Amino acid sequence: MTATTPIDRTDWDDAVRPADDFYRHVNGRWLAGHPVPPEYGSYGAFHEVNERNQELLHRLLHEAADDPGADGSVRHKVGDYFLAGTDEDAIAAAGIDPLRAQLDAIDAIGSAADARAIAPHLERDGVGAFYGIGIAPDFADANAYLVYVGQGGLGLPDRDYYLKDDERSTQLLDAYRAHVATQLGNLGIAADEALAAADGIIAFERRLGEASLTKEQLRDPQLTLNRHTMDELDGLMPRWRLATLVREIGGTQPTVSVDCPDFFRVLDEAIADTPVDVLRHYLRWRVVKTYASALPPAFEDAAFAFYGTLLGGQQEPKPRWKRVLDIATQDIGELVSQLYVAEAFPPAAKDRCEHLVGHLLESMGTAIRTNPWMTEPTREEALRKLAGFSFKIGYPDEWRDYTPLVPARDSFAANRLRAARFEHDRQFGRLEQPVDKGEWLLPPHIVNAYYHPLLNEIVFPAGILQPPFFWADADDAINYGGIGSVIGHEITHGFDDQGSQFDATGALRNWWTEEDRTEFMRRAEVLEQQFNASPVTDDVMVNGKLTLGENIADLGGLAIAYHAFRDALHGAEPMVDGMTPDQRFFAAYATIWRMGYTDAYARLLANVDPHAPAHYRANIPMSNFEPFAAAFDIEEGSPMARPAAERARIW
Ligand SMILES: [Zn+2]
Repeated sequence: MTATTPIDRTDWDDAVRPADDFYRHVNGRWLAGHPVPPEYGSYGAFHEVNERNQELLHRLLHEAADDPGADGSVRHKVGDYFLAGTDEDAIAAAGIDPLRAQLDAIDAIGSAADARAIAPHLERDGVGAFYGIGIAPDFADANAYLVYVGQGGLGLPDRDYYLKDDERSTQLLDAYRAHVATQLGNLGIAADEALAAADGIIAFERRLGEASLTKEQLRDPQLTLNRHTMDELDGLMPRWRLATLVREIGGTQPTVSVDCPDFFRVLDEAIADTPVDVLRHYLRWRVVKTYASALPPAFEDAAFAFYGTLLGGQQEPKPRWKRVLDIATQDIGELVSQLYVAEAFPPAAKDRCEHLVGHLLESMGTAIRTNPWMTEPTREEALRKLAGFSFKIGYPDEWRDYTPLVPARDSFAANRLRAARFEHDRQFGRLEQPVDKGEWLLPPHIVNAYYHPLLNEIVFPAGILQPPFFWADADDAINYGGIGSVIGHEITHGFDDQGSQFDATGALRNWWTEEDRTEFMRRAEVLEQQFNASPVTDDVMVNGKLTLGENIADLGGLAIAYHAFRDALHGAEPMVDGMTPDQRFFAAYATIWRMGYTDAYARLLANVDPHAPAHYRANIPMSNFEPFAAAFDIEEGSPMARPAAERARIW
């Protein structure tokens, strides 16, 4: 698990030729030696880093619990949250009491109007029942906040699960029915009634699913950013009066954005036509689904059996402390992160990463200036957009203020409710203020990175700035091929099929000429077809359209990281461990993608994840990239070196 050297030849499989499958060449023995552990659905470099981060946090959480320090301090809050989360006896003894107020209010519903009356309370309690309501910068003005309402209400991960009728889908829907009935049974509802209720809930969710946008459509900002006045929003749901609800929960502005107006029309009808006993069961189900992780084992085990094992391919649950840490990351993420970065992210690492980002941005500038397909006006806009990029590295300059949130030692579920209300109040409480440009959308101990199109910024948390992505002491080939390609990936998101629709200020504005857009999409289409031709399991292929933005980012990220690396070499060609700089760069790139999947989890991801399987994320970009073939003397037309005429190239 511990990475000790950037390139470890004992992980390689020399029986696989680089020309056939470079990913397996570099990772073959690692993959053979690291079957997916029973508590995971997939396991790879991202998980290795996460394991290390978690081990460190495990110690820090215990220390905070044992020696919490002053009331109101970070340690005190984190320690109390962790103690309540790991106190399984208290959780079992409390039963569903912590959610009694919510469940009693649902029991008392006698009509759809009654359901509407309690909806604002459920919303603030984190039970987003029928839809999602959130706050983000306005897509027309990144300095102001806007309320976004989005389709939702499904208990399965995507609308397709309700609409397909092949054998596997039917079996899954049957298992979902049984799961919903089990959870209602855990609330004390008789078995027959619970099964009938599950049927009613699925019929209701299927209507919402049919009216929902597909996951491919959801990637299109022109389709999903629709400004509505409050009157127009109430017009979509004349009985439910959604705009009025938004005001009741703290929305103060004259407009909101709606992702799928038709969904809300159908939802209004579905609520009105659904028998009130089904609505009651549906809302109970939503409460249990939201808080199962903080309820007694009967609830948590049932949720794991369905979502963890059947959908996610995990054979065993993670140990309790890891589950609590995962949930703490959602609820009190920046409190946990403060403990983490103090130990895991020295200032020297921050310096070196800032340099890397600077070089990657320069390299992107060169790619924009020299690519053969952009017209001049679009090239100028693209350079303006790049000049407007900002970046964040490691952790925030100023940590989020958690003063109003005080976790207690006695109830995990109560702490989760407190955290939901805190977050709700924090979001709505700042609607009228200018956008907080310093805010982080991921806690810094997370192994991930993001590009935010509305803020035109890239963000790299301390959690991912770790081996094998980033080595504080390694040669440049390792860091450009590793974290450099991730940085490049995030930068190009500003110019992919989604990001290219937002300008330098984050406003949704088409700054492309028709000609450029056509040529961009023609080039993207080549990549889409390559992924469409790639199998995930024996009967499922990669969805090239769903994964297009991420694949464009991988392809571009590799190219701009490589060119930045060549610049950084200043003409030198230092051999390290018998490898050329280019060979080490590509080996580092292939290493960060090592990952094994369970069959169930691979299928789930194929349905919902905009990222392709890691094997293809490594190999397909390299197979399109001439310097890779040159570095390993690979003959054109080999699996890892596509013929020149078939290569995808955007940046
Ligand atoms: Zn991405």
